[in-house]
Amino acid sequence: MEISSNRKKNIISAIVMGSFGVAYGGAKSVAKSMQKLETEFMKNVKPEYFSYLNSDELQSVQKLLNKGMTEKELNMFSRIWKIPDKKQFLEEALDIFIGDTGYKYLKPKLTYDTSDDEGFFRWTNFSINIPRLEKRSKVDILGVLKHEIVHFKQYVSMLRTEGIGAEGILENEKENIFNRLKNDAGFMKNKSESEAKLIANYYNYLYRDILFVREQIALESLGSIPANSAEGKKAREYLAAVKNYVSVNRSSDAADVKKYEENLLEHEAFSAGDALEDKYGDFILTLAEDKKKLQVK
Ligand SMILES: [Zn+2]
Repeated sequence: MEISSNRKKNIISAIVMGSFGVAYGGAKSVAKSMQKLETEFMKNVKPEYFSYLNSDELQSVQKLLNKGMTEKELNMFSRIWKIPDKKQFLEEALDIFIGDTGYKYLKPKLTYDTSDDEGFFRWTNFSINIPRLEKRSKVDILGVLKHEIVHFKQYVSMLRTEGIGAEGILENEKENIFNRLKNDAGFMKNKSESEAKLIANYYNYLYRDILFVREQIALESLGSIPANSAEGKKAREYLAAVKNYVSVNRSSDAADVKKYEENLLEHEAFSAGDALEDKYGDFILTLAEDKKKLQVK
């Protein structure tokens, strides 16, 4: 099963909804207040972040810090926003998301195609696919990348949790495939339940080796998660959510779309992806807006 993000979303409205344009407010002269902002900015942000922005841009993004954007996000946006090539843009963003953490040994491979999906994470080979790059905005694809990274981390979490691991994921999936086939009238028309079981087993064996290798890497690089810890309990909920997962496409009915969006795996991924999308939209618009102002003067 693929964990996808098929929800239709109007990206422009997402950008516009993110507020921007906080006034400089209060200071007698603009120059003086700009200077003050820069001083504040220099105090609050690490020097290595500066190189990515020129001084005008620096003034602009100060407003975002004041609005609750974190330094980490600001640093990331500053590093990627001028990369023209969308694949490079995403690769760089992925590197920043993963950072120098244990996740880097499991880093998903980015793939690109022309499918109709918004994007998906494949647990079978740990890849993230982001389709139709040339037709989509960077704000959109950055949000999708974040969304899929959440799915990636959900699976890593399951791999690391005592009592789940590769075996738990595979058994869960085997059951899912079997149930899906058993309830598929088309399949059952000329096939038996034992054939459905055979196919489910076949998938289990197909991905077994690679998933156990990943479990080993995850345990070595990030450590195991005790079953009774908060993280361990969450991982159990992920596993249950995989079982209840409803895939949707553009012709799915509203009830299924609702189930899909309320699924824990998707709920977490949409929250994080949408929030980042809004913030990056905010960042870009703030810079663009201020550039316009500067040109008018
Ligand atoms: Zn998703």
